[in-house]
Amino acid sequence: MPMRSPTFKPRFEAPAKSNDLVRGTARERGYDGSWRRVRLAKLQSNPICEIQSESCTVSASLVDHRIPLTAGGDRLGWDNLRSACCNCHALVTQNFKETGTYELLTDVAVGAETEI
Ligand SMILES: [Zn+2]
Repeated sequence: MPMRSPTFKPRFEAPAKSNDLVRGTARERGYDGSWRRVRLAKLQSNPICEIQSESCTVSASLVDHRIPLTAGGDRLGWDNLRSACCNCHALVTQNFKETGTYELLTDVAVGAETEI
């Protein structure tokens, strides 16, 4: 029985995602093992979305930084963390990009602005 010669196979290396090239990988951005432990503890402690926008799904699946890391927020500080659903997190992130404010306007504030 003929034996095949061994073939060289390079170690698999996943291609870098285009976003990772720009902003760094999750690990490079600080989302490491200590983050995963704090994140899990926060979601177990408070599984309800703390933002509660109109499109809120109530059940939190994310942990959000009240003060974004890019704005100097504490990465692992409990007081800087809040549980959030995907919808609310997307809204506050969009609001931050547009206004620099990382909170949603309340219904009262929005109503007050439209009445003027
Ligand atoms: Zn929500």
